[in-house]
Amino acid sequence: EKIFSGFSKTRENLAVIDELLLYWNLADTDRVLDELEEALLVSDFGPRISMKIVDSLRGDILAGKLKSGNEIKDALKRSVLDLLTSKGKKTELQLGFRKPAVIMVVGVNGGGKTTSLGKLAHRLKKEGVKVLMAAGDTFRAAASEQLEVWAERTGSEIVVAEGEKIKAPSVLSQAVKRGKEQGYDVVLCDTSGRLHTNYSLMEELVSCKKAVAKVIPGAPNEILQVLDGTTGLNMLQQAREFNEVVGLTGLVLTKLDGSARGGCVVSVVDELGIPVKFVGVGEGLDDLQPFDAEAFVNAIFS
Ligand code: GDP
Repeated sequence: EKIFSGFSKTRENLAVIDELLLYWNLADTDRVLDELEEALLVSDFGPRISMKIVDSLRGDILAGKLKSGNEIKDALKRSVLDLLTSKGKKTELQLGFRKPAVIMVVGVNGGGKTTSLGKLAHRLKKEGVKVLMAAGDTFRAAASEQLEVWAERTGSEIVVAEGEKIKAPSVLSQAVKRGKEQGYDVVLCDTSGRLHTNYSLMEELVSCKKAVAKVIPGAPNEILQVLDGTTGLNMLQQAREFNEVVGLTGLVLTKLDGSARGGCVVSVVDELGIPVKFVGVGEGLDDLQPFDAEAFVNAIFS
């Protein structure tokens, strides 16, 4: 319900498609598909994906596979669903067999990393998972305190930097060592928010990854980029660059309860082949849900 209301603007933009398809006839195909492409562009699908979707619809219409407006609409929804779920994208967390599993969250400031980590701790704890948090955002003074509040709310243990000079890689390394020694199932690692254009901070992420892998070969099991769902196509560029530097395994889309922008999500998933694993739908403990591609498609198309 929250996602449905969050996507009301996207749905409004795409509602024009229904009218177009209501009066569709074969002779009118080019005009209708041009307008459909325009509606997808307005809804942040981006030029590449919009064209890909429309071209595939055109092919199916010309081949006689789609014979009515309703069939075209269904095919449109199906193709968006396919883009979100194909290429064997695993939307569940892949935590491996070594304990502790390590999950690192990355992204720009204000996207919702710390909040998502707190909500994830809550989810995992409800499943009986023993969770340790690591306050790897050593750049912003208030970040550790913010994570400590989440640790308290969720009843999780937390490792924070002892002293101002301690940097993120050592906090994470220390946390993973403790996780290993004390039998934790999962270590959740926060990192500093950074712009993808800040070279030295991006490099720090690589050091964080290496520091963790030194303690547990193969870790981190998941590197999740947290993306603000209200930011539009800019998220594609962000995800591209973080993926290049650190190698993402999944995405967390936040603020879908706000005025979220739907189309760009499809672009990110399709271009980078990285699945959305969770969506954030509010600021409360229970406001992190596993990504449901079908619910997503039903929320953006009326
Ligand atoms: P960080 O800088 O990436 O760690 O971002 P924060 O976790 O501090 O979140 C930034 C702001 O976004 C905070 O005010 C959060 O409460 C808010 N926020 C995070 N996720 C969501 C969400 O899913 N929905 C809403 N409405 N707000 C969110």
